[in-house]
Amino acid sequence: MISSNNLIHNFRKIQERITDTCRIMGIVKANAYGHGALHISKTLESLGVSDFGVANITEAVHLRKQSAVSRNAAILAFCSPLPSHLPLYLQHDITATICDFDTLRTAESIASSYNMPLKVHVKIDTGMGRLGIPPEAACNLLQAVEQTPHLQLTGAYTHFAQSTKTDDFADRQIRTFTEVCSEFEHHAKRNLCKHAANSGALLCRKDACLDMVRPGIMLYGYPPDESVQNMIDLKPAMELRAKVIFIKDVETGTTISYNRQWTAPSRCKIATISAGYADGYQRTLSNRAKVFIRGNPCSQVGTITMDQTMVDLGKNSNVRVGDDAVLFGWNGLSAADLAKIAGTISYEILCAVSSRVKRVFI
Ligand code: PLP
Repeated sequence: MISSNNLIHNFRKIQERITDTCRIMGIVKANAYGHGALHISKTLESLGVSDFGVANITEAVHLRKQSAVSRNAAILAFCSPLPSHLPLYLQHDITATICDFDTLRTAESIASSYNMPLKVHVKIDTGMGRLGIPPEAACNLLQAVEQTPHLQLTGAYTHFAQSTKTDDFADRQIRTFTEVCSEFEHHAKRNLCKHAANSGALLCRKDACLDMVRPGIMLYGYPPDESVQNMIDLKPAMELRAKVIFIKDVETGTTISYNRQWTAPSRCKIATISAGYADGYQRTLSNRAKVFIRGNPCSQVGTITMDQTMVDLGKNSNVRVGDDAVLFGWNGLSAADLAKIAGTISYEILCAVSSRVKRVFI
């Protein structure tokens, strides 16, 4: 279940934190963190968003082919393009991330052979260590893109390594980025669209909000980590539900599921739920999570299997086959609660919800 109202609430909360001139890029990579990129992009566009961020060309082309956003909305693919993918950038009007001179030359040669313009954002690696041109060479790369006939420089960006920390490292990252961009802007006598802030930086660093911000996780209702959870009021946009498909009484000493990891301490009622790790309900949660049925918590018992999960109904004797069981969401545990139990982050809990789970938009 995906709540458009909660998504809109989160969007408004983000908007309250930035200036009127700062744009919001909707981060819809990884199928909009598992929420369904088409619906989420459409909803964001209806709220005025005209920039979208995806991981790669496959995700970008999917948005264009499904007409998820209007033709003039910009779609930036974050990864560095492989030469064989560059024609797709041109054909579908996708903005490429350029991080080096080799890619610039290849991009120009392909764009000129198609006689089409290629939109480019230059990525500067100020300390994330993943993608980007080192700051020392960044101004030269920006100038080279600017002077290359078939390339259109429409922005520059960087990414924080620890966006919720306001330490020296993060300070240096944003300072380096803005200095390089200013140098370019001074020579080029024009402004660039500069962006650096993901959710964490949006909360913790006004100086990083610049011309555009790139929130992902906060759109979907979660703070980037616990340290900032009280800074903004967000609502989960996703609730993972499955059906109770079977209920049985078991005797004391009965074991449940693979490897017999749970034994009934007394007579009890066990319900089987129609979701397992193949749906994204991770096996590491086995015997540790609570599932909510009719608003009441039930302990998950036994190893979570591929397609089904068992719960001890405890005192909840009114549960019936066909009831909804909430694995996480706005009722029951949140994705952040599950992440804590599983030793991961809410991002991974959301992205793990697999394609066989039907997304119902409300
Ligand atoms: N920008 C880039 C380049 C990213 O890779 C991501 C996500 O990892 C984001 C923005 C959004 O980050 P968050 O979900 O923490 O807001």
